[in-house]
Amino acid sequence: MTTTTPDSSGKTVTDTLIVGGGQAGIAMSEHLGKLGVPHLVLERSRIAERWRSERWDSLVANGPAWHDRFPGMEFDKGRTDPEGFASKENVAAYFEKYAQKIEAPIRTGVEVKNVERNVGRLGYTIDTSEGIVEANRIVAATGPFQRPAIPPIAPKDDALYQMHTSDYRNPDQLPEGGVLVVGAGSSGVQIAEELQRAGKQVYLSVGAHDRPPRSYRNRDFCWWLGVLGEWDAETIKPGMEHVTIAVSGAHGGKTVDFRALAHEGVTLVGLTESFDNGVVRFKPDLADNIRRGDENYLSQLDAADDYIARNGLDLPEEPDARTILPDPECVKDPILELDLEKAGVKTIVWATGFSVDYSWLKNVDACDENGKPKHHRGVSSEPGIYFLGLPWLSHRGSSFIWGVWHDAKYLADQIAKQRKYLEYHNAVQGVAEFETESE
Ligand SMILES: Cc1cc2nc3c(=O)[nH]c(=O)nc-3n(C[C@H](O)[C@H](O)[C@H](O)COP(=O)(O)OP(=O)(O)OC[C@H]3O[C@@H](n4cnc5c(N)ncnc54)[C@H](O)[C@@H]3O)c2cc1C
Repeated sequence: MTTTTPDSSGKTVTDTLIVGGGQAGIAMSEHLGKLGVPHLVLERSRIAERWRSERWDSLVANGPAWHDRFPGMEFDKGRTDPEGFASKENVAAYFEKYAQKIEAPIRTGVEVKNVERNVGRLGYTIDTSEGIVEANRIVAATGPFQRPAIPPIAPKDDALYQMHTSDYRNPDQLPEGGVLVVGAGSSGVQIAEELQRAGKQVYLSVGAHDRPPRSYRNRDFCWWLGVLGEWDAETIKPGMEHVTIAVSGAHGGKTVDFRALAHEGVTLVGLTESFDNGVVRFKPDLADNIRRGDENYLSQLDAADDYIARNGLDLPEEPDARTILPDPECVKDPILELDLEKAGVKTIVWATGFSVDYSWLKNVDACDENGKPKHHRGVSSEPGIYFLGLPWLSHRGSSFIWGVWHDAKYLADQIAKQRKYLEYHNAVQGVAEFETESE
């Protein structure tokens, strides 16, 4: 007998427990529901909580609304233009509505604290903030970006205000004075621009990056990566493991152009290497990083032009897209050392990404010694445990809204397959050893 609320003894029994009620958990619920697999989603906070409270105020989706969504529902056109970029509030509202539409069995405000494999019988006993759950399977959908990652070079200096992007909300939060933003992926570059527009002196530390054109020849880059098969790439190209992607939907969406940022007043510096007595050292790699970013940008224009020619598409030419601005002074003669006090820098914003936190899974054999999930396409080395929503889980799109939906479909199929084997076993043995009933 499966339930979605606790019985009189305080226990809930289900076939598959989904941990996390973000986009991954909702996609998983949709596919399991379609296959008739009894399941329950536990979310420690609210649906799509990260979009509500763990992102900065002005954040909008990086992809247009026609693209950054699940196939089953469009964004509310009254709130978000399909060609526009949904605000973080509208993304959260979208997932809340989606969960209602599919009647996802979600319990919010319930945290999963620990998982133990059952001994001598199938499944797991899960300790939550609201009692015990018994489940045959668990899908960890707790997000690709869970724990703020700050490199070990970070200084311990009371005179400096330091924050990770997950704590950044808006420029008013920062003390007077200049800011060093470390990391120039999508988050770092957007926050640096916002701070510069708010009148702050901003230093932006730029490492290796890709910077796709926001749009080219009348098509958004999301469309180009789609038709060129790049979202479906299954492995990271060798040497690209530490390359971030700088893209933005802010201000109506425009191509990230580091030179333009510098001409507007942001001082670009190379990769942040070390801190020593209030002095930051940067690698002398800024010009190289900018040049490689240009190569990536131009190669995407070339690929788009080839695609148009090959398929005879009628899309307007855009020669201006190939214009590269002159190198600003900070690129020609880069700063390699910055004395923070002398430069008036009072804040560091670490735009250095996130790591995962599967501490609640520590008692099962699903993660390696570094706490990283051991899995193939989300199917864990620990039978009955599945991971969803991780970067490159199965392809480049795996951690994004449109990609996670397809990975969830695959995992739901895997779960349904396992249930069929158990049903066969039960039938031939004439036992009810395993709970496999459908809703
Ligand atoms: C700044 C930023 C901008 C982004 N913009 C885009 C974009 O424009 N387009 C796009 O496609 N993707 C974007 N992404 C990537 C991705 O879509 C988001 O990170 C998204 O939030 C991931 O969804 P998820 O469901 O996998 O994980 P999350 O949204 O992280 O959801 C996981 C949920 O699990 C819950 N949880 C965690 N631990 C437990 C526990 N032990 N028990 C119960 N619940 C738990 C959390 O509260 C959370 O609600 C962005 C990411 C970032 C960081």
